Amino acid sequence: MKILDNMKNMMMKQASKLVTNVVRNSEVEDLAKLLRTLEKFAKEPTKSGLRKLAEGAERKDPMLVKWSELFKKASPKVVEKIINNLIINEFAVGEKVRQEKMHEYEVVLPKLAVISPTYACNLRCVGCYAGLYGHKYQLSKEEIFSVIRQFNDLGIYFFIITGGEPFIYPYLFDVLEEFNDSYFMIYTNGTLIDEEKAKRLAELGNATLSVSVEGFEEMTDWRRGKGVFKKVLNAWELLTKHGVIYGASITATRKNHDLITSDEFWNFLKEHNVAYAWIFQFMPVGMDPTMDLVPTPEQRYERFLITEEKRLNGDFAFVADFWNHGFLTHGCLAAGSKYLHINAKGYVEPCVFQQFAVDSIREKSIIEILKSPFFEAYKRTIPYSNNLFRPCPIIDNPRVLRSMVKKFNAIPQHSGSEKVITELAPELDKLAEGWKEYADKLWYEKGYAEKYPAKRGIYNYETRMRRYADNEEKLALDKKA
Ligand code: SF4
Repeated sequence: MKILDNMKNMMMKQASKLVTNVVRNSEVEDLAKLLRTLEKFAKEPTKSGLRKLAEGAERKDPMLVKWSELFKKASPKVVEKIINNLIINEFAVGEKVRQEKMHEYEVVLPKLAVISPTYACNLRCVGCYAGLYGHKYQLSKEEIFSVIRQFNDLGIYFFIITGGEPFIYPYLFDVLEEFNDSYFMIYTNGTLIDEEKAKRLAELGNATLSVSVEGFEEMTDWRRGKGVFKKVLNAWELLTKHGVIYGASITATRKNHDLITSDEFWNFLKEHNVAYAWIFQFMPVGMDPTMDLVPTPEQRYERFLITEEKRLNGDFAFVADFWNHGFLTHGCLAAGSKYLHINAKGYVEPCVFQQFAVDSIREKSIIEILKSPFFEAYKRTIPYSNNLFRPCPIIDNPRVLRSMVKKFNAIPQHSGSEKVITELAPELDKLAEGWKEYADKLWYEKGYAEKYPAKRGIYNYETRMRRYADNEEKLALDKKA
């Protein structure tokens, strides 16, 4: 059986080389054919996922049409790596391995890992948690290689690299080279991208850059520093020139709300070849947490209406409003349910924004941490609300975060991180209460409750096996939900 599996994997990899050329020079129909081919090899729930993608390509879903356009402009290596590393290794082969490992270790495994290899950064952005450490905290080359290898062994081939500024990390390109069968999304301020780096990224092909931008020049430079906006434009130009696919990472604040919900801003992104957009609303976390920039519930609601329209209209390969699109990921992703965050100190946080940890990669293996009581408690509890517009234990269900931190004596990762569960607690309760009104309106009155029903027990191994083991199609549905 193992030999057969290996042969299938080899065939899929061979096929990817051939289809890379086809896909690069052709239309969305060819993408549909490729997805249909991969579907034949895959196992549930990936099989259903690939089938859905193929169906989308066949009916010329605007998002998939956008992907085929991107492939035509990207460097050959970039296309090859998206197909080989992301679609085949992570999505098709990886899912199969993750399922086998899930049974072996009796723990539900995440789909991806976020790693902050360093907290060092060349900028001092307003409200950033990483800014003031200098080079004090960094993962060694051996440490980052070891954790990525451990994830690969579990069938995980997709990594998000953040920080700090990843391009300050001395081993970033070593990681991309060493793990050339994994795919990386790098969150960067863009200011260190030069001709040589853009060229190298195009040659390697296994990374996409999500570049931070807060609006236009005035707003971006206010938060990130004078001259940053122009450097971002320069980075985008270089990446376009060399055929590297990139997106925008936008922090939604109380201050830039009107700007980032304007047509002018979204047209600007489109005109600058931005392939995808992430919107993260400002969170009161880090060394000196403040509520001043946190968007109001009304702003969050207005923003959702805009970003949902942008997600569906096909101008971008994807648009994700991190909290507002919680219904697409079955709520919170934290604590190994879908991802986890390894910080520059080596501690493993449930997510980038929940800056509390119990375990460190310097003391335990990844699988031990995934099976830890701290992480398992989260996974048993997700989703914290049946309304998936309220996914978050920090801003939507603050009592959950308080009780988890207390119960497991989780260590605040920055001096000041604890404020989110102490002095800011009354304000967070008020924020959550205010948002509930809008979230309920979306969930119950706009049809999302019927389309994306919350399911329980997906992330806890015993419950998942009891409820879903004999019904693969049901698992596929869970994945969609
Ligand atoms: S804790 Fe909040 S920010 Fe983190 S993954 Fe869950 S919903 Fe997202």
